[in-house]
Amino acid sequence: LQQNARQKDDFVAAFTHELKTPMTSILGFADILRSGEVSPATRRTAADYIYHESKRLEALSGNLLALMGLEQQPPQLEAVPLGRVLQSLRRALPQGSPVPTLPRSDAVVLAQPELLCDMLYNLIQNARKATPADGKVEVLLDETPTRLTIRVQDTGCGIPPQELARITEPFYMVDKSRSRRQGGSGLGLALCSRIAQAHGGTLAMESELGKGTTVTVTLPAPNQTAAELAQEEPV
Ligand code: ADP
Repeated sequence: LQQNARQKDDFVAAFTHELKTPMTSILGFADILRSGEVSPATRRTAADYIYHESKRLEALSGNLLALMGLEQQPPQLEAVPLGRVLQSLRRALPQGSPVPTLPRSDAVVLAQPELLCDMLYNLIQNARKATPADGKVEVLLDETPTRLTIRVQDTGCGIPPQELARITEPFYMVDKSRSRRQGGSGLGLALCSRIAQAHGGTLAMESELGKGTTVTVTLPAPNQTAAELAQEEPV
């Protein structure tokens, strides 16, 4: 119970902080614009800040709503062709992003397709952000009769071992200033991990600093229950 109470306090403190930082910028730059006497260059800078910080707030509230939604109501899962999910993913990702190829064309997954697509989108974007232009991001799919394994693998900056255990906690960021600059607020992996759980699956991270990171998501096959999956050997 104590741990639960502490987690709640941490959550509220982190949320307040994430809200306060963009609000301070927005207020400050709006005040500059209000004063009237500003050069075109300052006006442009102020408008840019207000726009980008508002976008960050919008993403924050969207992620938070999704997270709360998952906690309160488990998603309705349906058997969907994996190809359909990957098609939406391809459309959502920026051009040139890696998208997994299907192990077989009629693979089916028990999922809420939008959530599954969101999860893969987040993982691929995280890997791309962490990886320099000459690095590599790969998405690998492996299917057995009982499970589907999706691996998002990068040769990026990696995550320090002491951070890895907490990385899926809401608002947890490794490099806060870099994460914020890239529009993040530390909710992405928390959401991905909850999405995997809501599908009766798991999300595991392995990483080596300076070498890269692999995120492994395992989902039960449509005819497999979560309990049956848990009894099997981990992949
Ligand atoms: P955000 O929305 O801020 O990106 P996430 O929950 O997605 O937050 O990620 C949490 C932290 O983990 C971030 O600080 C990010 O830098 C780090 N991270 C996530 N994925 C990777 C990766 N593939 N390689 C290195 N660092 C990563």
